[in-house]
Amino acid sequence: NWINQPPLWRGDFPKPRRNQHKYSRGHATVFSGGAFSTGAARLAALGAARAGAGATTIYSPASAIAVNAAQLTSIMLAKVDTVDDLEEVISARAPDAFVLGPGFGLRRPIREFAISILQRGGGGTLVMDADAITAFRDEPAALFTAIKGSERAVVLTPHEGEFSRLFPDLIGKVRLERAGEAARVSGAVIVLKGPDTIIASPDGRIAINANGNPWLATAGSGDVLAGVIAGLAAQKMPLWEATCAGVWLHAEAATRFGPGLIADDLPGLLPPLLAELL
Ligand code: AMP
Ligand code: MG
Repeated sequence: NWINQPPLWRGDFPKPRRNQHKYSRGHATVFSGGAFSTGAARLAALGAARAGAGATTIYSPASAIAVNAAQLTSIMLAKVDTVDDLEEVISARAPDAFVLGPGFGLRRPIREFAISILQRGGGGTLVMDADAITAFRDEPAALFTAIKGSERAVVLTPHEGEFSRLFPDLIGKVRLERAGEAARVSGAVIVLKGPDTIIASPDGRIAINANGNPWLATAGSGDVLAGVIAGLAAQKMPLWEATCAGVWLHAEAATRFGPGLIADDLPGLLPPLLAELL
């Protein structure tokens, strides 16, 4: 087990190269909810973009496009409402990373979206958070089978409540053991969020993040984290390292900012931290 510190992953941190263009720096995508539930997707998208993804797109139902457009400039927007829309954009664009869950809503076909992304193949990373985790509470085994059969790599970022919905059998064990076991059972990198976030890989690697602080316990902060991880993974950083780096950066940003932090602040706090790492 490790304490999550930059020496664990700094060597894998993405560095821009001279001949790159925006798509070769990584295209990160985020699924938004409908018009009444868009903030989480914007937070995740800004997290991905500030983590260095060359291009970031929010996919949403038509009803949410104008809402997102009113508040974003450099993030691209596209309509993805149905599984057919989703399959079309995946074929046309082959995104490098997806964030599914924050603000998405449980009444829309979120399980079908997840399964479709996993089955389409094409590499790249799927970060599943929030509603994407809760949606599989009645059939976690179906998710784990899809993850293990997929060409894509998956990160699950549950807080305690979401974790116990997906892994009810692991209730009672200590957090470190639960995260490690969940990674083996699911085939995904697990981020068990809390005051001491645990990052566990299916290959057995496990790290404890210790630089967090209670200012992170604020609405939307987990959504930014999902985006930051996707932004790093979109740049082809190896997944466990990208996840550890995302968790550390997110916590470090909050620790340096301190009192009064809101989730909207987090993306803009990343650049000086990146400058120290590069
Ligand atoms: P969520 O529950 O999805 O909004 O995510 C909350 C984020 O804040 C996660 O990254 C947690 O690890 C972090 N967090 C929540 N409470 C605390 C705390 N008391 N100390 C440190 N980090 C926290
Ligand atoms: Mg959350």
